[in-house]
Amino acid sequence: MMASQNRISWWRTEIGDAEIDRVTRSIREEKISQGAVTLEFEARLAEFLGVKHVAACTSGSTALLMALMAAGIGPGDEVIVPNRTWIATAHAVVLTGAKVVLADDDPIDKTVFVEEVRKKINKRTKALLPVHLGGRSADMETLTQIAQSHRLLIIEDSAQGFASRNQMGLLGTQSLVGCFSLSLAKLISTGQGGFVVTNHAETYEKLMCMRNHGVQDPVQVQYSRMGFNFRFNDVLASMGIVQLEGIARRIEHVKNIYHTYQKGLSDVRGLQFVPVNLAGGEIPLYAEILVEDRPSFEKHLSSNGIQIRPYYPSLNLAPHLADSSEFPHSSKYGKCGAFLPCGPSQPLANVERVIQVIQQMKWN
Ligand SMILES: *Cc1c(COP(=O)(O)O)cnc(C)c1O
Repeated sequence: MMASQNRISWWRTEIGDAEIDRVTRSIREEKISQGAVTLEFEARLAEFLGVKHVAACTSGSTALLMALMAAGIGPGDEVIVPNRTWIATAHAVVLTGAKVVLADDDPIDKTVFVEEVRKKINKRTKALLPVHLGGRSADMETLTQIAQSHRLLIIEDSAQGFASRNQMGLLGTQSLVGCFSLSLAKLISTGQGGFVVTNHAETYEKLMCMRNHGVQDPVQVQYSRMGFNFRFNDVLASMGIVQLEGIARRIEHVKNIYHTYQKGLSDVRGLQFVPVNLAGGEIPLYAEILVEDRPSFEKHLSSNGIQIRPYYPSLNLAPHLADSSEFPHSSKYGKCGAFLPCGPSQPLANVERVIQVIQQMKWN
């Protein structure tokens, strides 16, 4: 079959000559470690997001760990995490020594997470870690009120929320610290990488110091606090600068993909398109569906050379995060959710082909 040759992959990032030229220039100039280009990238991100401080680091997972460490989260503390996220969100909490408390959630009904959070707060709760999944905002307004009345911190996992907005502004900028990722399946990518944003000067100083083993000045070394090597590098920062310059085109393309699917799949039986609030400023990073019989669906597409990505399993299924609570909402997504082929350079012709193959599917 031609399938393997014509294979449509679930995600296509966008890298062009401008990235290659800029990376080459950095290497020629021997800017390969964390230095001037990283500073420039951080400044541009700060400007784009309208925040005071940005600290680049090795990954979105690292960004979460740094944010939690800077917030003083540690053994004896509890952090509330949605049950439906990429597991990095929870692992960062585990690494600090704090306890992950899972809360059920639903992307269409944002009140589910909020109500679960209210139920799970206790004396040990120190922070809430809402996740802006697939560019969709968590209910930040209500979560902020809850946090204020219980004296809790909020740290946003905005790895999938870059450039998305809610009524209060850009996601990831509405709490003590916002965490972003630059890994492959994100709106802008450097292959690996991440960054932390904050408007709080003291937190920023902690982050900067922590990124370099708790040492402020790498020449006149004085040990001040616990840290690690969380540093970013100028080669990838070069790529990041170019990716950020192309953000408007990327946003437009992912919106076109979203509209095409929404229209093409509106009356397919057994399949539900998971919406994004475009009018409210959310950016549809992915094309997400719920499909009753996911194994048959995946098999049908795969035999037509189309790859889908099943949703990540709910976190309560991880042996080290096990929780005896019920998670009816998130479980449904873990079982029936999938990402259809999408991404900043996924050709619209591929999207049309996917729709056609889905429409041809015979459910029995
Ligand atoms: C990608 C992602 C992360 C982790 O980012 P990495 O750069 O891959 O470490 C964390 N949370 C969410 C929701 C993500 O999508």
